[in-house]
Amino acid sequence: MPYINIHTHYRDKEEDILQILNPDIRDKSEIEKIIDKKNIYLSLGIHPWYIEEGKIISQVKLIESLAENNKVLMIGESGIDHLCSVDINLQKKVFEKMIEISEEFKKPLIIHNVRSNEEIIAFHKNMNPFQPWIIHGFRGNETLMNQLIDNGLYISYGPIYNSYALKATPLNRMFLENDESSTNIKEVYKSISKDLDIKEVDLKDQIKINLENIIPSITI
Ligand SMILES: [Zn+2]
Repeated sequence: MPYINIHTHYRDKEEDILQILNPDIRDKSEIEKIIDKKNIYLSLGIHPWYIEEGKIISQVKLIESLAENNKVLMIGESGIDHLCSVDINLQKKVFEKMIEISEEFKKPLIIHNVRSNEEIIAFHKNMNPFQPWIIHGFRGNETLMNQLIDNGLYISYGPIYNSYALKATPLNRMFLENDESSTNIKEVYKSISKDLDIKEVDLKDQIKINLENIIPSITI
């Protein structure tokens, strides 16, 4: 059974890793290069850091033209980042568009959330999406984690996290990732299974079930 890496920006060549690679949407050639590779899937979205107002329309068209492909498992990462210099209303506008694409193409949404818990939850309440939403790279505390879980969201943990939040997270709402870290995903599984005091094989099994729950069409 493969290790599942729900969100990464760097392609890992090890075959026992099922990875959802998030390429830079500004580089179309990179996306085309990846699309027929085995065990590598994609998430496509406009990252809040890289929003350029004049390019949004063409990037949205690109995402829509690729989103139907079976290799595209998720939309995103997209979201709201209060520490980045891009205008917050523009970030929200782009995020809303990504939510619409996620719903239209029936692909879960992977979310970048920096100090934006309340706004993201408000979007979730207002738009009432059918598709699952996953907050990636979660480093917040138990209270913030509970707000997200109570509103039906999923949480993905990487190499750096709040141990209290992790331990309180329902196992059936959890994913693992290495994002842009050089830490191998296998190391993430090792340290998190240790922290949770469960066997690594059981953690792998649970994450596989979780992915199958949110993406029933996938064969792992
Ligand atoms: Zn990322």
